[in-house]
Amino acid sequence: DIEGVTVERSTLHNFDEITRKDIRIGDKVIILRSGDVIPKIIKVIASERNGSEQIIPRPTQCPVCGSELLDEGALIKCQNMGCEARVVNSIIYFASKQCLNIDGLGDKIVEALHSSGMVRELSDLFSLTMEQLLSLEGFKEKKSRNLIDAIAAVKGCDCWRFINALGIEHIGEVASKTLCGAFGTAFDTASREEILALEGFGGEMVESILEFVRVNSEKIETLREILKPVAPVKIEAHENPFKGKSVVITGSMSVPRDSIKAILESLGAKVASSVSKKTDYVVYGEDAGSKYDKAVELGVTLLTESEFRSLTSLSDSASSTERIRVEPKNSLFD
Ligand SMILES: [Zn+2]
Repeated sequence: DIEGVTVERSTLHNFDEITRKDIRIGDKVIILRSGDVIPKIIKVIASERNGSEQIIPRPTQCPVCGSELLDEGALIKCQNMGCEARVVNSIIYFASKQCLNIDGLGDKIVEALHSSGMVRELSDLFSLTMEQLLSLEGFKEKKSRNLIDAIAAVKGCDCWRFINALGIEHIGEVASKTLCGAFGTAFDTASREEILALEGFGGEMVESILEFVRVNSEKIETLREILKPVAPVKIEAHENPFKGKSVVITGSMSVPRDSIKAILESLGAKVASSVSKKTDYVVYGEDAGSKYDKAVELGVTLLTESEFRSLTSLSDSASSTERIRVEPKNSLFD
């Protein structure tokens, strides 16, 4: 009883706070209540302990659905798409603009569909019938038809929208696009190492994906079957001496090595970081060191930067335009 109000609950905020304040089951605590904010525990009165207090175990399973949890230190999250505690928000997110952008499927309607029992999880959206919708308050013929059409229209969506819509912790639009570029729609078959090798992917993101896939593998499969997302089409490079070849770049060039790499990749070459028997070409600049020596030793074809450029311009009219554009600059040295 605090100032005439019976306090029944008090926030523990997150698990790190519980640990930091060493709050145990059975403890006497000091509570702060201010305004309408949920009261919080300020500190434990350790002198009042009698030894029967128990340490609060760190949860490993969701208290609502029993699913494995994503443990990120301070925050512990359930990623089960079908978990009762989060399914409504999962569906709202799935339908939102940055995901599948389903017109007419806003918060209120998702809540009504869920509380009526018509949609218990995401895949149920795709089997909604006119009859079901017409039984909902405020749904007439046209509105119901429009919603069913809008849901059906997301089939064949872009791959990245499919991944983004799943609501994987830390995986937004940019990361979804990277995953699609690397693995197509089968991002869930990628290994820890493969995902970690992607540009911009750190440990926390990888753990989140792996945990999400473990918990939701069947639901991902079901949604993929329904949505039939389309992976980006890789543009096939035209015929050129570097297509499908393994190339190593070493030494300093007239431009940053990354731009030489970008040219090679656009020609369909694979740019490797070390020279081996599988290397087809080594493009070298000034001060080329051990990689150059290794190439000589293995008999790999060596190309200077200008030899490399003349080979690319032979096969690429765009590069020869570039060459012409460069010429006036050279004339300064004449
Ligand atoms: Zn759960």
